[in-house]
Amino acid sequence: MNVLKGNPISRGIASGKLFIYKAFTPDIRESYFEAGEEQKHLEQFNSAVKKAAKELDRIYDSLASESPDKANIFAAHKEILFDEEVAEDVGNLILEDQAMPDYAVDKVFTEFADMLSKIDDPLIAARSTDLLDVRNRVLRILQGKEERNLSVLTEEVIIVAHDLLPSDTATLDREKVLGIITEIGGATSHTAIIARSYKIPAVLGVPDATKILLNDQFIILDALKGEVILDPDDDTKEKYERKLTDFIKDEVEANKYLDKPAVTADGETYHVGLNIGSAEPDENIKFADFVGLFRTEFLYMESDHMPTEEEQFKAYKKVLANMMGKPVTLRTLDIGGDKSLKYMTLPKEDNPFLGNRALRLCLSLPDLFKTQLRAALRASAFGELEIMFPMVGTIDDIRNAKAVVDDVKSELRSESIPFNEAIKIGIMIEIPSIALVADIAASEVDFASIGTNDLTQYTHAVDRMNADLVDYFQSLSPAMIRILDTIISEFNKAGKPISVCGELAGDPAGTVVLMGLGLRKLSMNGSNIARVKRTISKFSLSEMVDIANEAKGISTQEEVLEYLDVQIKSHD
Ligand code: PEP
Ligand code: MG
Repeated sequence: MNVLKGNPISRGIASGKLFIYKAFTPDIRESYFEAGEEQKHLEQFNSAVKKAAKELDRIYDSLASESPDKANIFAAHKEILFDEEVAEDVGNLILEDQAMPDYAVDKVFTEFADMLSKIDDPLIAARSTDLLDVRNRVLRILQGKEERNLSVLTEEVIIVAHDLLPSDTATLDREKVLGIITEIGGATSHTAIIARSYKIPAVLGVPDATKILLNDQFIILDALKGEVILDPDDDTKEKYERKLTDFIKDEVEANKYLDKPAVTADGETYHVGLNIGSAEPDENIKFADFVGLFRTEFLYMESDHMPTEEEQFKAYKKVLANMMGKPVTLRTLDIGGDKSLKYMTLPKEDNPFLGNRALRLCLSLPDLFKTQLRAALRASAFGELEIMFPMVGTIDDIRNAKAVVDDVKSELRSESIPFNEAIKIGIMIEIPSIALVADIAASEVDFASIGTNDLTQYTHAVDRMNADLVDYFQSLSPAMIRILDTIISEFNKAGKPISVCGELAGDPAGTVVLMGLGLRKLSMNGSNIARVKRTISKFSLSEMVDIANEAKGISTQEEVLEYLDVQIKSHD
């Protein structure tokens, strides 16, 4: 019985069969066949088209009732598949030039896609990605390879992948995924965040998982300890059944705190926020006071084209309605780094996390930025919406972004379109260069939220995606505690709201320190609300202040964590 180790990043235990997910990437060479075999090769092409149509029908049927928008993408793919011009060009290449079917398909589809991508209308240009998608489907069938797609799974499985792209997780068939294992990715990678929000047990950073593990192999995934147990014997299975029962018991016990008010043992109130990544309803909003982080990039990543102002306006309005009228902090587009859009090519960068991402990218693409701000401002007429900018590095960033908001406000005024004139504008504090001038930043904004995921990445100069460096990714290091202390006290001094919306806010040990440092607003993944409320309810505020003061004097993160563990256990 073999055991592989990784980082447990979404708590839980799962057992089941594996599904090794490798996205198909075509590798086609220019090649021709001997004259005389034209009909045979044409037939191969036609039969691949028929098989592709069947696959598309199956996907369409499985999505049609629950996600008609996603289903329509596959209906459009079928139209492309049967496009007469494309079929004629492929047929001619096979019949007249004796081109091998895969080469003919690759050449014709790619040429059409290139042509479309150059058209000025973004809606038409976006169709080129669909053409490439259909091309890959036909090429995969011609090469006799099976379909690999996470949006339609035929049975319950544990997924194994090198990494899951945000576009993979966005369309994931949540009902059928029992667990996730990847070779890369740390606790604050987007796969981790999505796994936690879907409550799917996940262990990331398992080296060579896609090579060692096999399709259909039975495993136990211990996402409490970070272990993948291969082909477990009966004793191990029994042991894990008991462990799962204990885990469920603990979850049930913690869940008793879900709908309790967020107060400390001595009755001090704090505010619990929910982090969301889509416009869909989220039942956890019942247990939260506000939405502290609405990651809007998922809206862009789920779409096959750049979302229009109207589409965004509708989505933002829908979020306000789905969140029961509670305040929503909309974070403007945060792409670049590990997040890309399939319909928008960004220049390749050597250090994408230090590159043109998030607010920097939006400031360099004013049309894109203004479209989102127009939609957000218009939605602000329908509920309590705040706007927050990600990846702010300087006071200039704040002023430049606010100037664009002012421009958009004037445009809307001149068009007599209603919006909330007093809309609150805030920033994420996730780069040390802005954290260290928190006093100045506080005077320029209405509020701020600390993104501890990126703040840890940039403070410790450690790639948050690199599973080999997890020991260096220290969100509760003495350096982080000092920097958090500075930000929280400067904002409190200025009387401006300050919250934390990074993963540290959902970590019970982290929240005790944050509360002790003076934080009263924490925004987190829904799956963490119960455990955080349970922990904080067991401490008085003065106890947490003492603990934070003690932690400030400790020299290493390991010692901080040991100290916090003792404190939490003594309050159980
Ligand atoms: C953060 O960096 O802590 C954060 C909340 O933003 P994201 O994880 O989306 O980068
Ligand atoms: Mg961030």
